[in-house]
Amino acid sequence: MGRIYNFSAGPAMLPEEVLQEAADEMLDYRGSGMSVMEMSHRSKVYEGIIQEAEKDLRELMNIPDNYKVLFLQGGASQQFAAIPMNLMKNKVADYIITGQWAKKAHQEASKYGKANVIASSAEKTFTYIPDCSDLPISEDADYVYICENNTIYGTKFKTLPNTKGKELVADVSSCILSEPVDVTKYGLIFGGVQKNIGPAGVVIVIIREDLISEDVLSGTPTMLNYKIQADANSLYNTPPAYGIYICGKVFKWIKNMGGLEAMKVRNEKKAKILYDFLDESKLFKGTVVKEDRSLMNVPFITGDAELDAKFVKEAKEAGLENLKGHRSVGGMRASIYNAMPMEGVEALVEFMKKFEKENN
Ligand SMILES: *Cc1c(COP(=O)(O)O)cnc(C)c1O
Repeated sequence: MGRIYNFSAGPAMLPEEVLQEAADEMLDYRGSGMSVMEMSHRSKVYEGIIQEAEKDLRELMNIPDNYKVLFLQGGASQQFAAIPMNLMKNKVADYIITGQWAKKAHQEASKYGKANVIASSAEKTFTYIPDCSDLPISEDADYVYICENNTIYGTKFKTLPNTKGKELVADVSSCILSEPVDVTKYGLIFGGVQKNIGPAGVVIVIIREDLISEDVLSGTPTMLNYKIQADANSLYNTPPAYGIYICGKVFKWIKNMGGLEAMKVRNEKKAKILYDFLDESKLFKGTVVKEDRSLMNVPFITGDAELDAKFVKEAKEAGLENLKGHRSVGGMRASIYNAMPMEGVEALVEFMKKFEKENN
């Protein structure tokens, strides 16, 4: 069997062209006589790779000059600690809880200061995004924190919260580069790359320069200190070099596809195929409030756990893999990130129609 359609929430599909190019360069990267994996991160060749990756990302996201771009390790979860350690000057931050990842970030921040929950959708199992137009933002909050796209529950902030002048910090792990973004609205944006960009092990942090300072919580590890990482241009120690190289290739792939405007159009088209079917199906139902639906993660259920399991099993046999919902939610979830082709979503909907006929 060849390549399947992989609907995993992460690590997720990468563009086939990118994998092919990496394979072609595996043994000898452009005449260097070695693989990027074997290369000194201080070499001229590697410097070129990381600098070009940053340049392309800046171009794609239109990142202003007064923001630093960091390629770090430890995944998104490491940032749950790094953010309070670097930004909690008053030791106060406000968290909006829209799912497990925001909850985990909040729990971690609580170790370092007063992390307030100013809004939550927990009482309806995170099936919607709370109204964030007039929240009780703390007077002394160092930042307001959101998880912009909720990978597990399939909701997305369509409007950013009114932070009343406080810095906005956003986990964009599962929506980064899926549509255009106004970076200036955020103090800090971060995301693990294994959903929409590259191999696990890299986390991208985009942070406004004036938020980077030597004044961090005492005991902050060197590796988690943004000032040290920024001063070293992400090369304080050996970076996740191969992962960054693949990220760079994906940035080029997106540029060739027409950039984030084009990705948005494509992602909306893909998601619409699936949501339209869910809305008309008698067997399958989407689980979240329509206005807050994610373009990237689409959870759905039949309402019968046994039938759900049968669906996941038969879908796998048909080459549609990793459709099982997160263990905390059950049901199904189709993650349709940038690299999922239109044909993959079409094949899924065709399969769902067939399954509905056979099982209704
Ligand atoms: C996957 C995910 C994480 C966790 O990422 P790691 O790199 O495994 O730490 C955090 N936040 C969101 C929104 C995610 O989707």
